[in-house]
Amino acid sequence: MTAAQAEKREDKKFSIWDLPDVPDKLPPHLEFARSRVQCNLDAPVHTESIIYSGAYASMGVDNSVQLDFFQENFSVEVKRLTKDDMEFDLIGSDPSIANAFRRILIAELPTMAIEKVFIANNTSVIQDEVLAHRLGLIPITVDPRLFEYISENDSPNEKNTIVFKLHAHCKRGEPRLTVKSEDLTWLPNGSEYLLEGQNPASSSSSKPKTYTSFSCSQDSLPEFANNPVSTMPEIIIARLGPGQEIEFEAHAVKGMGKTHAKWSPVATAWYRMLPEVVLLEDVEDEDAETLVATCPVNVFDIEDIGNGKKKAIVARPRSCTLCRECLRVGEEWEKRVSLRRIKDHFIFTIESTGALPPEVLFTEAVKILENKCERVFSELS
Ligand code: SF4
Repeated sequence: MTAAQAEKREDKKFSIWDLPDVPDKLPPHLEFARSRVQCNLDAPVHTESIIYSGAYASMGVDNSVQLDFFQENFSVEVKRLTKDDMEFDLIGSDPSIANAFRRILIAELPTMAIEKVFIANNTSVIQDEVLAHRLGLIPITVDPRLFEYISENDSPNEKNTIVFKLHAHCKRGEPRLTVKSEDLTWLPNGSEYLLEGQNPASSSSSKPKTYTSFSCSQDSLPEFANNPVSTMPEIIIARLGPGQEIEFEAHAVKGMGKTHAKWSPVATAWYRMLPEVVLLEDVEDEDAETLVATCPVNVFDIEDIGNGKKKAIVARPRSCTLCRECLRVGEEWEKRVSLRRIKDHFIFTIESTGALPPEVLFTEAVKILENKCERVFSELS
């Protein structure tokens, strides 16, 4: 071993990649199969994710996951961020990591959702069960981190329950009435319905018991003082005809999407691999115009190359939906256009239901994945 090699071994960042007889990279055709999905007209190929250390051992290449390499190459680039949705690029990651974030976002991030509905009156055409189900799906715009989970033995209090009431009546002779989510009124003092057996006219000094036991009003808590609890507006709950009436109280509690989809904080969370569209040969003049006209999402543009000639260029590969129409332009077009997906580059989209902004949802998902990893480490050690 040379002095330089011995020095490297002393270095904490030493890895097998530093050994002089380990090739830096694979031959191009293997590197292509490792890093790209090739989307042919009939089916995609090279779809597997190869992270096995011995996959290319016969070539002298170590293909195992390298922490240093991951740290150097991993990045997140936010491409679009609004109040409700977010698109970002997750670069240098394995599909299993992207999928872990997707699954955590859908199933393991808590929100508040209506779980119990106390119906006092319902003469509408919607059955009680259907009405309760519709109410459960209305997103509640409140930070779930301010609340605790409620178990079967807990009594509903200001820390684990939000109470709404609604009373709508379509009077005879009036047009039909549409009852919407904004008609739900937050009750910061908890339920107004008395427990069975309680007498409202009781002379006792203690207050009659209701279905909740709030020790204080929620709007007196600092976290809600300037931020009242509300629901997403404009969601239709019911349509009432003349003479019909609904009156109920709805109690929301904290839960997770893996128990019921109503607690999922995302309308959707999904990802796709970054498209790569390559013209394998020049596509000129009439062929170029045909190609541009074929693509439904305008991936291609025409470039003037002088002498009255034009050629097609790939202008917006990110928009490619993999419809493969460009491979069907004519015979043998698979030899002219190559459609690929980059295996370690994901376009990730999060659509929030409104409880938390999408960027907060992602950071919370990262924390959950981190906790899971720590749990695995502590159980293995
Ligand atoms: S696969 Fe479809 S969307 Fe993608 S470049 Fe070809 S025609 Fe356009």
